[in-house]
Amino acid sequence: MHGDTHPEALKVLQEVFGYDSFRGPQQAIIEHVIAGGDALVLMPTGGGKSLCYQIPALLREGTAIVVSPLIALMQDQVAALKQNGVRADYLNSSLDYHEAVDVENRLRAGELDLLYVAPERLATARMQMLLEQTRIALFAIDEAHCVSQWGHDFRPEYRQLSHLHQRFPQVPRIALTATADVPTRHDIMEHLQLHEAALYNSGFDRPNIRYHIAENQGNAKEQLLRFIREHHDGEAGIVYCLSRRKVEETAAWLERQGLTALPYHAGLPAEQRQHHQTRFLREDGVVIVATIAFGMGIDKPDVRFVAHLNLPKSIEAYYQETGRAGRDGLPADAWMAYGLQDVITLRQMQQDSSAADQQKRIEQQKLDAMLGLCEIISCRRQALLHYFGDHLDAPCGNCDNCLTPPETWEATVAAQKALSCVYRTEQRFGVTYLVDVLLGKSNERITRFGHDRLSTFGIGKELTANEWKALFRQLIASGYLSVDMEGHGGIKLTANAKPVLRGEHALTLRKPSKAKSATRRGSKGASTTLPQGELWEALRQHRRELAAAQGVPAYVIFHDATLAEMVEQKPQSLAALGEISGIGARKLADYGEGFLGVILAHREAE
Ligand code: ADP
Ligand code: ZN
Repeated sequence: MHGDTHPEALKVLQEVFGYDSFRGPQQAIIEHVIAGGDALVLMPTGGGKSLCYQIPALLREGTAIVVSPLIALMQDQVAALKQNGVRADYLNSSLDYHEAVDVENRLRAGELDLLYVAPERLATARMQMLLEQTRIALFAIDEAHCVSQWGHDFRPEYRQLSHLHQRFPQVPRIALTATADVPTRHDIMEHLQLHEAALYNSGFDRPNIRYHIAENQGNAKEQLLRFIREHHDGEAGIVYCLSRRKVEETAAWLERQGLTALPYHAGLPAEQRQHHQTRFLREDGVVIVATIAFGMGIDKPDVRFVAHLNLPKSIEAYYQETGRAGRDGLPADAWMAYGLQDVITLRQMQQDSSAADQQKRIEQQKLDAMLGLCEIISCRRQALLHYFGDHLDAPCGNCDNCLTPPETWEATVAAQKALSCVYRTEQRFGVTYLVDVLLGKSNERITRFGHDRLSTFGIGKELTANEWKALFRQLIASGYLSVDMEGHGGIKLTANAKPVLRGEHALTLRKPSKAKSATRRGSKGASTTLPQGELWEALRQHRRELAAAQGVPAYVIFHDATLAEMVEQKPQSLAALGEISGIGARKLADYGEGFLGVILAHREAE
């Protein structure tokens, strides 16, 4: 598709992709790869990783081979590239034999600029042979954290990618990821043999995402509904739950409340899953309720919120999942409700896992870090970025703790009461029982065990049951108490509890929020600043029709940001329309007249 003379990278950016200028390190990366260098790119979601290999793919001789872990991701990327007139295709299990052979032939004939492949296919003898017969421009390894066992999406097939370097030592490789803590980063370099690669680390911050971590006040679903109604009515979002049952319940409940909410989990028939995913991608304002089986490789740019009704197992998982919001750079929310039961369930799951001891220790550390994030009283973003080895000088001003600084309280005495209650009841009981003892509630079990005669019986009347539960949650989360797994979820003291009991260590904790204050000032969501009005709606309608006719998601035609710019600028000619960000030569030729027509008709109507 490029002529005899190699256009410069900037020219490709403008003509093919319709963007004015490079963002952040894009240009440096692109030049490095065009020159044949290897690169490891750490860039936040929405940062613009794809262009880092797509532009070199167009400027280097031959075909770029892009390794991508998911079919949906490949389909989306290829559809978007084709819209821009780029010769791209994929090889994966969604193709039948003849379709696959056709792609292979075009690859051999040098008719493709980019070929997307799944890692397991790349390892096959057939594919290796095909590659031997192909002029390869570069290898791009997307979602490179999948190579690491430390990472949260370990894919054993990724390990075989090290062979690429041995077989094709001359071909440059670029590995890209949006979430990799330091050990994961080392794993990537190790397993992909990228020791010599240039590292481009643009940090992980997603400034347009607003983080909220709310306490589950026993009615998380209602809290969620209120949050959606207030801030994201009619907008697309993802709600994550831990279990399939909870996914189904929550989706059905949200539907009954009048939202379009669809379930997604691995237990649903493949067809239904596919159908729900497609609706989420193509319709406006669908909320998908899912287990973590959903989302990887979802490129939808206008997801306005990601909500968690359960605690993720690690900060990486949390960051990856919340990172699916706001890829288009417009304001978006990451919202979570978590409570005591989450902490207990996750600790239990961990203990029951069949993983080897070392792996268990890793999981344990990761959960501890996640719990720490929930309980902190300082800026969440600073803590998140710190976890990934990044640094943010000042508090962000765009998380719940910054917007509404949580109240704290001197919890040492209450903690001592709770801990000694655990001790006196012999470390065998669950939180509900312990709270009853502290509140001095007599029941059959308590009398049977004689715990109504303990010195700790009824010494905690200054707090409510919910406040005690929150305190137990915090004590478990911060490692003063542990959950006994062999027994039946009994709470035990850890070594850390002693200094607190002896009064050698004071505790200042986040004050449990009162149910009524759930929507106080500052608990606002991010407000979306998309235009409204007739022209906006008419442009969206036109886009919808074009998308439906081709069976692609609307954002593959144009992003919201591009339509918003049309509303703002109201270009009156094709040339003026072509100046708008996101409209390259091919899209201008294909869609220019149509959108211009809508804009001109609107002027007449005014
Ligand atoms: P990532 O893969 O890092 O999550 P993408 O490659 O999907 O991000 O890019 C995110 C969005 O930003 C896409 O819509 C993309 O077209 C857009 N984008 C990328 N680079 C630029 C640029 N230089 N100027 C304007 N928009 C860009
Ligand atoms: Zn903050």
